[in-house]
Formats: sequence, structure tokens, C-alpha cells
Amino acid sequence: MTTRLQDSNKLPSARCLRDVYSHDLQLYKNVPFGELMLNELQELCKTRLIVLTLVERIHLQKQNVSVSQRKSVLVEMLRQKGLDEFARLISSSGCKSHTDMDLCVRRRDHISHYILRCAVAFDKCKKRWFFKQEARLFKWRFSSLDNEGLRQFMYINNFDFTPISQSEKKDIKEYLEMSSAFINDVNSAQFYKISFCCVPSLIKKRKVLVINGEAFVPQQEMMFAFVPYFKAILISRFEAAREARANLYNDERFTNIFAKLEKIIHIENALLVQDAIVKEYVSLDQLDELSEISYPLCMRVLHKALRKNHHLTHGGRVQYGLFLKGIGISLSDALKFWKNEFTKIMDEAAFKREHIYQIKFLYGTEGGRRDYQPYKCRKIMESVVGPRDCHGCPFKHMPSNTLENELADCGFNAPERSTIMDLTKDGLYSAACTKYYNIKHDCIQDTLIEHPNIYFNESVKHHHLCHDVNPEVEDIR
Ligand code: SF4
Repeated sequence: MTTRLQDSNKLPSARCLRDVYSHDLQLYKNVPFGELMLNELQELCKTRLIVLTLVERIHLQKQNVSVSQRKSVLVEMLRQKGLDEFARLISSSGCKSHTDMDLCVRRRDHISHYILRCAVAFDKCKKRWFFKQEARLFKWRFSSLDNEGLRQFMYINNFDFTPISQSEKKDIKEYLEMSSAFINDVNSAQFYKISFCCVPSLIKKRKVLVINGEAFVPQQEMMFAFVPYFKAILISRFEAAREARANLYNDERFTNIFAKLEKIIHIENALLVQDAIVKEYVSLDQLDELSEISYPLCMRVLHKALRKNHHLTHGGRVQYGLFLKGIGISLSDALKFWKNEFTKIMDEAAFKREHIYQIKFLYGTEGGRRDYQPYKCRKIMESVVGPRDCHGCPFKHMPSNTLENELADCGFNAPERSTIMDLTKDGLYSAACTKYYNIKHDCIQDTLIEHPNIYFNESVKHHHLCHDVNPEVEDIR
């Protein structure tokens, strides 16, 4: 059975495809057209979901590596899965060839993006997830473009950014060298002059020269001008996607596809899968047990201190509060949890006055109403930690005798403690945390821990699997 994506009664002609799909990188501004087999449509969308799930995983697990390194990991993983078509698109430098196959691949890219956009349009959570992964994917793909690929991309999409001339570059060479220290040879680098409003993130990081309101952006940083543009397009097109989907409510073929896709997004997204498992397990009365079994040391320390002192300083409340949010504790449970502890040393009125606002703030229901995310290890390691504080990363911030006592408290024997202590002495904090995980779970986790919530999710998944495989394993519920 075939389906028609927009008014058209045939497959688009090669010439028509050549006009519409003239570049490997797209902004997906328009609705795709032409006919397609329904089963192919579903397969395309499933493949794209795999790609987006991998994007999320790599983003979370490889936070200390560059965009191009993350992209290489993604391409490698796609090749291993036999998804060469996407692997090639992601590493494409632009639009060197326009064979029938190239045009079909670009069309499939467009269609899968569009159908998934419609599929998530009514679900806030899935829409946010899709938006984030698509924006990352676009950024990684953009980083593959060479000079000609970028020039073509701008031409096709009507961007009027021209590279500065050699003589203009010569006049400001000294300033360009100072502002773009990461560029080895300013003479051979391509710079574009664009309004400073288009690159706020580069200006904030002082990575770009600005003269009279115009930023001189090196080619390899141009993604910072285009990613916000791509995000704005995505946001603006969600409304149209909702309408498109609403208009298809009477078409059973599409409602079936959307229903299946929605289900698959829930099933196939790795982190959602973990969330689903986690949510199945997490309730307030399980936190004590989970803190022993599945918390990384930073959160175990905070939980223990909270239970003992019924208080945490500001940094600890934020670090632990966001972690709890990330493992699926709802706002109402969080309010209960903190109230139970804090009102052991203060009255209810004081708790309301001093803490409720901050808890709600972290959940985005007060103040800036942003969806604050749990801190990554890197951010936790950058925390300023005073003597009264319990937050931060213990492998980095704890005095070594305190850390060793904590490890002993976790049940680690002397050789195990010594292995971890050696790593921390060498400043290898993530490696120490990963070793801690491996010892606690009696397994070999070969990816460095870079996020406390990933640690937790991996641990819950590990126990879940052990439980499935061997019902004798203690039920952590
Ligand atoms: S490395 Fe990360 S997860 Fe591990 S203890 Fe430090 S901050 Fe927590």
C-alpha cells in the first residue's frame, strides 16, 4: 500500500528531486511530497529513531570530547548497525554528487524527519526529546561541511553571508589571531562577517572578533550561527506538524503509523527505557536502599548527610534535588521528601518560607520556569565546596582520609580502596568513579562515568537485568 505525503500523484521526477534536494544537509522547512510505500515510511522513521537515540547516548556519555569526535563515534556505531546511508549523510561534506541514490537518500532523510516531527507534535516530553536530538544531529552534520559545502548550503538557503576578502583579513589579521587562538593559520582560514546577534554563544565565550556590530566568524564556528536558526525553524514548524497530524485523524493508515511510532519512541529510546525501568522502581521509601545500591558516591554522600543532619547547604540541595528529579521523583514527592527531613530541625513555616520556592524552581514551576537538568560530573567537579558542604565530587573534593572512610563504609576492602585512591591521587576522578561502579556491580563498565544519572540508570538496569536473569537476586523493590 502506498501513501501520498502531499498533493502529488506520482513519484517526484529526478529533476524535481534535484531541485528540492540539492544538498545533503537540510533545514526541513517544507512538507515532503510524492508517494511512498507505507512499510518503507515506517522503516525510515524507525531508523531515524535509532539514530536519534544514539545521538542522545553519545551526547551524554562523551561530554568531554569535541563535536567531531562525537560524530565519529556515531558514524562508527551506525556502520556497525549497517545503517550506512545515515552514516554517509552525517559525514557528508556537502553536495558533491547528485546521483539518483543521493537524491533518494536526501528525500528519505526529509520524510523521516517530517513524519517523526508529526508523531511527537502532541506529546510535550517526546517533542522536547526529538527537538534536542535533531538539533544535536544537525550540529554534528553541519561540522562535516567543507568550505564548498558550507557555501552551497548558504546559497541554497538564501543566506547572505560572504567570506571576507584577503585584503580585509590582512587589515585585521592581528585581531583575528588574538580572538581565534584555536586557529593555527589565520591566513588560510575562511572568515565570515555576520551580525553579532546571530552568534550570541560565541560572543559570550569571547571566541570571536566583533567590530561595529559585526562578528568575524571562522568557518569551523559557523555552526553557532546556524544551529539557533535550525532550532527556531523546528520550533516554528511544530504547530504546522500538529495541524498536519490533526488533519490526518480520519486516515487510518496514518493514525496507525503515528500510534506505532509513539509507542516505539517510548520503547526504543534508550534513556526513556531506562527512565521507564527507573520509574517502575523509584518511590520515596526506596531511596535509602537505592542510595546504597545504585547511587554514585556523590549522591550517596549527600543522601547520608541529609538523613543524618536533616539539612544540606544550598549547593547540596541543588545537586541532589536535580539528581532526584532526574531519576523520576515527582515534584510532589520531592516536596514531601525535603519537608520530612528539614522539619526535623525547623518548623513547617520556616520550611515553607525558605525551601519550597527553591524546590519548585528546580522543577520549573517557579521563577524562570526552565526545565533544569541534573548536573553532569564536569559541572559537579567545578563546584566550589566549603568545609560545611557535602556536595561536589567526593573523588575530587573530599580529603583523602575522609574518602577512604567513605569507601570503607561502602564495604570496599583495602586493595579495592587503594586502587580507587591511586586513581584519585592521579586526578583521574571519572576513572575512580567508574572503578567504584565496577567494584560495586562486579562488572566491567568500559565507558567512563560522566553523569551521576547515567551511573544510576546503568546501575538500575544492571540490577533489573540480574533480577530478570536470576530471580534469586535480591528484589530491590
Ligand atoms: S564522577 Fe560524577 S558520578 Fe562519580 S562521584 Fe564524581 S560527580 Fe558523582
